[in-house]
Amino acid sequence: MTWDYIIVGGGTAGCIVASRLSAQSGKKVLLLEAGADTPPGDVPPELLDSYSFRSAFDPAYQWDDMKVFMQPIPGNRGTMPEARHYEQARVIGGGSSINGQQANRGIPDDYDEWERAGAAGWSWVDVLPYYRKLERDLDFDGSLHGDDGLIPITRVPFNKWPGFSVAASRAFEAMGWTDIRDQNACFGDGWFAMSLSNDGTHRVSAATAYLDAQVRRRPNLAIRTNTQVRRLLLDGGRVTGVELETPSRAEVVSARETIVCAGALQTPEMLLRAGMGPANELRMLGVPVAADLAGVGRNLQDHPTISVSAYLPRHARLGNTTRRHIQLGLRYTSRLSDALPSDMYMVAVSKSAWHPVGRRLGSLVAWVNKPYSRGHVRLRRQNDGGIEREVAFELLRDRRDLGRLTDAARLMAELFANPALQEASSDAFASTFGRMARAVRHETVFNLLATLAPALLLDGPPPLRRALTSRVLAPGRALAELLADEDLLEEHVRRCVIGGWHASGTCRMGDPGDPGAVVDARTARVLGVEGLSVVDASLMPTVPRANTNLPTMMIAEKMADAILARP
Ligand code: FAD
Repeated sequence: MTWDYIIVGGGTAGCIVASRLSAQSGKKVLLLEAGADTPPGDVPPELLDSYSFRSAFDPAYQWDDMKVFMQPIPGNRGTMPEARHYEQARVIGGGSSINGQQANRGIPDDYDEWERAGAAGWSWVDVLPYYRKLERDLDFDGSLHGDDGLIPITRVPFNKWPGFSVAASRAFEAMGWTDIRDQNACFGDGWFAMSLSNDGTHRVSAATAYLDAQVRRRPNLAIRTNTQVRRLLLDGGRVTGVELETPSRAEVVSARETIVCAGALQTPEMLLRAGMGPANELRMLGVPVAADLAGVGRNLQDHPTISVSAYLPRHARLGNTTRRHIQLGLRYTSRLSDALPSDMYMVAVSKSAWHPVGRRLGSLVAWVNKPYSRGHVRLRRQNDGGIEREVAFELLRDRRDLGRLTDAARLMAELFANPALQEASSDAFASTFGRMARAVRHETVFNLLATLAPALLLDGPPPLRRALTSRVLAPGRALAELLADEDLLEEHVRRCVIGGWHASGTCRMGDPGDPGAVVDARTARVLGVEGLSVVDASLMPTVPRANTNLPTMMIAEKMADAILARP
């Protein structure tokens, strides 16, 4: 059987594309997802939970082999930085099933910039109808909002906020920022109640919203989960389908069109392995060149992120008014010269991890909302002769990003020193998400027991708490020491920077005449290859001033229309 469309990857974009294309009863659609299914009525509670750190770190829903470098790789490769695990979803719904549920569009200039970069038809006025189409905002209406889309958007009402979140909003006010209320329609700087892809009590993912029972009953749609695509199949310059990873034998499925929605790290890898990428690099690896596309795997972006945490007294902790742990955010413009508007972002987290220690810690988490640094996904030769994927975010390669993140660390320390937050927290420290935090990030009985005693010590006398913090939770320099020495602070930021899980940009869409473009912005087609399209976060020319799930949903809605409109 030949399908009209095979969709590789049932993540945020893949579920939406499968749902929209199969609405045409004459089109036969096959959706292939490496992870498990979560059919309606049988979605695991940890995926539905508004407290998203449970699913985000659950190994059952992730690719266990996703190792990345956050820092630039030295030219001589003699002193390679440590590769670390980067959470990437492996489950139906993809990132939308495990992510932080922050539903953020960014600001109009993000999309006008896409248009200026050659992605014709992607300016703010072009994308707004798709943002309206996908959402059902339950708090705000008006011309910028949708009221009948499949993704409900809600915010935690102020009267349910824990003391730490209330205090953070007061500290933001004290530093001069006002409440802009609706982050998706008011585009200046200010703080706001965080908009969430949540119906008020549960997460709503691309899978639960777009692949409901009715859609799954369509006779022209097949969904195969626990099914990993091994490679794209090529015949001359045309992709004819895919080969699957099956334990016993190779299985081949054919399609008129293969649409890769495997996410910004795995989509470029799949194209590179099929010979679509920078021709010189592919030839050096012995990969036959199918299409010389210099942009595949280039332009990798994420938001460089750093946090400062503090001990929360009982009255400031997340109680039982809500499961949700992030109630508010702040968009602001950095204090550096030449800053673009809203180039920084910050959230207040009132429960920093699932376990008893995390319950006693509040965090301010800041990221560079408009980064300049670019990394890459490429293939490299292994010692045993095989070929492996290399992901290097190079997060602070550009000094402007380092300067702004360092300044954000200072700003977070100032906020914790503000009387409003002093009443709701104490003993602020530069958090590292180091070995200890990573060791207990999975929710297990062992980790629960292991964190119980330190949690009780935190509640003990302040000197004991400080000793525990400096020796176990945040070994290294105290926050005051870092703030007193710019070099030490920079070194800390370089060492502890992480991404915001917003990998994007590695198959940039653009004008077909642009040598760096990989995908035709009007059609989703991979340039120079027949029968192949890409629809996912890898299309973004630049990462928006926003978390990337809602923008990816918008891309999927818009590209599904473009695919159906093809002659
Ligand atoms: P994905 O959603 O990652 O989907 C790719 C899918 O392809 C996956 O399901 C994967 O299993 C599958 N796949 C890959 N390779 C193969 C193969 N060979 N065969 C078959 N299937 C394959 N964004 C926000 O807006 N707000 C947030 O709060 C937020 N928090 C996040 C927290 C975490 C822990 C993570 C991981 C992400 C977060 N994001 C957030 C980012 C957001 O979820 C992603 O930008 C978005 O999911 C990207 O969608 P995608 O379709 O490009 O890729």
